[in-house]
Amino acid sequence: QGDYNQKIDYVFKVVLIGDSAVGKTQLLARFARNEFSVDSKATIGVEFQTKTLVIDNKTVKAQIWDTAGQERYRAVTSAYYRGAVGAMLVYDMTKRQSFDHMAKWLEELRGHADKNIVIMLIGNKCDLGSLRAVPTEDAQEFAQRENLFFMETSALEATNVETAFLTILTEIYRIIS
Ligand code: GDP
Repeated sequence: QGDYNQKIDYVFKVVLIGDSAVGKTQLLARFARNEFSVDSKATIGVEFQTKTLVIDNKTVKAQIWDTAGQERYRAVTSAYYRGAVGAMLVYDMTKRQSFDHMAKWLEELRGHADKNIVIMLIGNKCDLGSLRAVPTEDAQEFAQRENLFFMETSALEATNVETAFLTILTEIYRIIS
């Protein structure tokens, strides 16, 4: 069953970056396994998860990397970025500081990654609308200026998570194929 006899046409490495606690691990859990755990760090130490999907009749294995907490020590290494064809730049829309740090994360990313990498800005936790600290327009403006895709998501409520990953993977496919 499953993957055994499946021919994989492409493997796309996508990295998740952004401050600690913005929801990177939960976005990955939601996309890869359709799960959300309140005790989030049960998955600590897991480097990446994969999900195989079909784009334009090709089998694409998405290999999504999570920092597993490295960012707390500002120790995201160049090995983490190596070979990445996509990046999700994640902030918590209820924490202004996590958005203000996006420029720094983008600079680090651009310093380490391939110049053709596809980047998506993600404002996570949109289920907490009443606590919003980052207006959609601010993020849109930043994304436009820096040439990033942009989406607001909720890993908790599964809002836009699938769409965000599909959008970035489809764009990567479009560039690579
Ligand atoms: P990471 O450090 O960036 O990997 O963040 P985590 O995925 O560990 O999430 C940090 C905290 O935010 C945890 O308590 C999660 O349960 C919570 N969280 C993650 N995503 C969401 C979301 O979409 N909505 C809400 N309300 N909480 C979230």
